[in-house]
Amino acid sequence: MVYPLLLLYFTRLRNAIDHLITQRLIAWARSRHPNKAISWAVRKYWKTKGNDNWSFSTWEEGMRKTAHLIQHNEFPIIRHIKVKGNSSPFDGNQVYWSNRMGKHPEMPKRTATLLKQQQGKCCFCGLTFKDGDKLEVDHIIPKAKGGKDTYSNFQLLHRHCHDTKTSQDRGMCDKHQIIEEPDEGKLSRPVLQTSRRGDSSA
Ligand SMILES: [Zn+2]
Repeated sequence: MVYPLLLLYFTRLRNAIDHLITQRLIAWARSRHPNKAISWAVRKYWKTKGNDNWSFSTWEEGMRKTAHLIQHNEFPIIRHIKVKGNSSPFDGNQVYWSNRMGKHPEMPKRTATLLKQQQGKCCFCGLTFKDGDKLEVDHIIPKAKGGKDTYSNFQLLHRHCHDTKTSQDRGMCDKHQIIEEPDEGKLSRPVLQTSRRGDSSA
């Protein structure tokens, strides 16, 4: 149960940083208005925003546009997902990095977007793409049948799955309902290289 303790630690750390910044701003307000009471400066610079009575803000009665200092505690603490093993964005594992970050410098934008949408899995066979697999963008509804060049009509497939799908014209795939991955032992998965056909569509 390390995570709840860490969460508590970071919440306290975040509050402490916000408190420290407020203290510094109060010191700044004192020096800027040496002849005014600090309560006057507090009323001038700190406003109530939601539950926060200490929002450092330009808000004035009747003002249309205002700005306020964003505090650390306005952002939720999101648990960082550890990078796998010795992975590095420069190791050439385009599938892993595109899936993780939604992009890889050498991966076409469309492929990277689809990889992320499909959670790194082929819409045809349901297997997770591995580094070196040949990936191809398929038109779910073939262009010959009026299918459009839009993301809702694109799906990313293994090259061999794409060939099978094209020959069977199997049609629809729900990218949001990716099939559970079958047992590895039951399937022989070819070791594949980057497709020479690249980011081609059918
Ligand atoms: Zn496949």
